[in-house]
Amino acid sequence: MSLNPVYFAIRDDDTCYFTRPQDLESCYGRIWDTCPVSLSIVPVHACTKSGVVPKEHWTGNRLFPLEENPALVDFLREAIAARRVHATLHGYHHRDEPDGYEFVAGDDLSGKVRAGRKYLEELLGQPIQVFVPPHNSLGGRGYQAVVSAGLHISGIPSFKPSVRGWDPRVLAIGLRERLWHRRHGFRRPWPLVFPDGHRELPYHGLTPVVTLESLVAAFDRVRQNGGVFCLATHYWEFDRPGRGQPLTIRQILERFWDHVLSAGDQVRFCTLGELCHKTPEAAG
Ligand SMILES: [Zn+2]
Repeated sequence: MSLNPVYFAIRDDDTCYFTRPQDLESCYGRIWDTCPVSLSIVPVHACTKSGVVPKEHWTGNRLFPLEENPALVDFLREAIAARRVHATLHGYHHRDEPDGYEFVAGDDLSGKVRAGRKYLEELLGQPIQVFVPPHNSLGGRGYQAVVSAGLHISGIPSFKPSVRGWDPRVLAIGLRERLWHRRHGFRRPWPLVFPDGHRELPYHGLTPVVTLESLVAAFDRVRQNGGVFCLATHYWEFDRPGRGQPLTIRQILERFWDHVLSAGDQVRFCTLGELCHKTPEAAG
């Protein structure tokens, strides 16, 4: 009996003006010739408190467009052409507003989605299909801005009508997912397909509190019947000490990657854009 495929992608957040090519190289040099790494890219980073922004720029009004780091732009263009890297849109400024995160509390979010997408497409030469919300947070206006631009979403936002409105077809999708989760004890490992055509993709976070064992268990669950598996992490956290568990993200990824490779042909490596189009019907 042949096993159903696991479609596997890696998402890494926060590539921006402050990223050096060697940061990405050191994290993914061993991986990206096998599995393209989908980078969630911030087009024009603002001053804000973040692990990716140097402390001296946590406050102020300066903006940091990606293009002002030409070494990174050259590197990204080449890596995209070689299918080592896939670009997705990660907010616009990634600024934490006083009342919430950018795509919850920011202004002109439709304009930011349009401008950010155009900016990355023109600078990097790759069509943008997927939006990764800063801090994985989308409010009602943020959600509308993203889906009306025709982008897919990495992550599954809340089904509250304050986020998605009252469309009964959408509420039914949320209910179906909740029932599936309750019955199986974990999320259904496939993208959700919505009536307007956009898709939402579940992911597994790898942060300093996540254990190797829990990731391996989640991956092995998907192996049983097939599905998608997206690992989401931050390159800038790779060497931070684990919290509540002994390993750094770098150490966990190294071991987890070997575990993924040990699944052999069952695993098909994808970009985030490709992963959005995998469904049980389209599998094969
Ligand atoms: Zn981010």
